[in-house]
Amino acid sequence: MVTGKEVYTSNELRKKYLNFFLDKGHKVITSASLFPENDPSVLFTTAGMHPLVPYLLGEKHPFGERLVDYQKCIRTGDIDEVGDATHLTYFEMLGNWSLGDYFKKESISMSYEFLTSVLKIPIDKIAVTVFAGDDQVAKDIEAYEIWRSLGLKEEQIYFYGKKENWWGPAGQTGPCGPDTEIFYDTGKEKCCEDCGPSCGCGKFIEIWNNVFMEYNKLPDRSYIYLKQKNVDTGMGLERILAVINEKESVYETDVLKPIISKIESITGSPYNVENEREYRIICDHMRAITFILGDSKAIVPSNSEQGYILRRLIRRTIRMFKKLGIMENKLTDITDTVIELNEAVYPELTDNKSFIREQLRKEYALFNKTLDSGLKIAEKYINQLSEGETLSGVAAFKLYDTFGFPIEFTREIAKEKGFEVDLDGFYHSFSEHQEKSRTGAEGRFKGGLADNSQQTTKLHTATHLLNGALRKVLGDSIYQKGSNINAERLRFDFSFDRKLTPDELDEVSAIVNEAIQKGIEIQCEEKTVQEAKEQGAIGVFDNKYSDIVKVYTIEGYSKEICGGPHAVNTGELKQFKIVKEESSSAGVRRIKAVIG
Ligand code: ATP
Ligand code: MG
Repeated sequence: MVTGKEVYTSNELRKKYLNFFLDKGHKVITSASLFPENDPSVLFTTAGMHPLVPYLLGEKHPFGERLVDYQKCIRTGDIDEVGDATHLTYFEMLGNWSLGDYFKKESISMSYEFLTSVLKIPIDKIAVTVFAGDDQVAKDIEAYEIWRSLGLKEEQIYFYGKKENWWGPAGQTGPCGPDTEIFYDTGKEKCCEDCGPSCGCGKFIEIWNNVFMEYNKLPDRSYIYLKQKNVDTGMGLERILAVINEKESVYETDVLKPIISKIESITGSPYNVENEREYRIICDHMRAITFILGDSKAIVPSNSEQGYILRRLIRRTIRMFKKLGIMENKLTDITDTVIELNEAVYPELTDNKSFIREQLRKEYALFNKTLDSGLKIAEKYINQLSEGETLSGVAAFKLYDTFGFPIEFTREIAKEKGFEVDLDGFYHSFSEHQEKSRTGAEGRFKGGLADNSQQTTKLHTATHLLNGALRKVLGDSIYQKGSNINAERLRFDFSFDRKLTPDELDEVSAIVNEAIQKGIEIQCEEKTVQEAKEQGAIGVFDNKYSDIVKVYTIEGYSKEICGGPHAVNTGELKQFKIVKEESSSAGVRRIKAVIG
């Protein structure tokens, strides 16, 4: 294992990291919100680079060309991995950047120096991966040679293709490039002959990723060199902390261990192999929950977007407690521990403490009412299944609709008994129900039901055209903050920090009306989130309900992930008119528009 090293706490590690890069000419920037301001494609900040996207694309950063920070991150895609030794929903990423300044040689050398000289990790415990090259882009010989010159042996360097060692572009085109990933070799036996950093057997732990943005991918899918070459690096604080302190998992580090101890004191049972999964899930989820509620955006549990992820995390935690035999609300006790551990670094948690506790009390009370009866019904459904059958979509929807069971929650319960859930059936029931309640609500309030729903459908299509036109006129960094449609008008909120000029408003209207006059058919395709992303669709990628999403395309004007419904042809909208443009809140503009 690691020898001759000093052992650091999380506070010391953050300091060491920042100071190391400060000494190398970097400026410290503060951790941004967990809710990205400039990326419409995700619900949460998933990496340190997120808040820096505009600067990676060429905008000048007020602090210069060398930056360093620690950043709070949430990766909902890793929720299912939680319970293993290294994947957390919430974690901190230590990052350093070069915005058109240093490149591969300095970046790799600095990472190497930090790991081996500051953290004293022996060189033979390090393994790295480098881009192998393909028919479009050459092998990254430069990175390989830099690693070799620093003393890494041939067998410590592994070559992989685009799947492992390539980043970006974020959409279909734009900055992208190879990366080199740094792993810690635990010294465990190789799992097979081909065992290497990418095999995932646990011998190698990925600790740091250095991305070299040197290419621009063009619409014809070719790659050209970028003028401004950037470096973007990210290292998981909890992982590196576990490694340098010789811990088996991130849960033994000082940012997580006291939470495990708190759970032990609540249950009265020591953390062991039998309860490890439940303890780890509660520990991880409570950290994520506390940081989501503690962020200045004041997100509350709900059935959509970030609020849904929050609800899902809270409800799963409540069930994990029940599995451990704890029937009372202990969420606030744990949240207090999370806040104590983090308040010195993240004072917003203390500022929002009463809000966090209040929301946890409310959500617990709400779910506690239905949880037990829901669990009974779920058990009844599952007991009726014979081997090989799946839990029907109608049953899963009933659990969602009547008892507030998030679909992932039901899936987990079924899985524990060895059954799958018919997801397609669930989404089908879900959308059918949405349709019913929508028409139901309109039917109650107004006559002329068919007319009204047709009008709102058209306004929905107009909203997509407006979103597309705004991005054409104001640039790709604007994104939707909210949308509200009634039978009379659409209302669209988007991120932008000043009033639009009359010329800009005219231009936006002209683009929408041009699309209407062309009479374009609206296409709807089902795609995986990955495909949608690759094809440059905008909208919320971090899908709440499935990996398959609907993508609505209005050729030349808009491509968005959306549940629909939409008009068949843009011609149905007849005429589009902006009636108002105003401020909605800081950094958010609001447009109201009508059609027909
Ligand atoms: P892995 O393959 O282990 O999931 P990754 O390739 O997704 O990692 P990157 O996207 O390169 O990781 O993120 C940079 C660094 O952030 C990683 O090297 C790792 O140290 C850390 N990291 C990534 N995901 C997590 C997570 N879920 N929990 C804790 N740390 C993480
Ligand atoms: Mg990952």
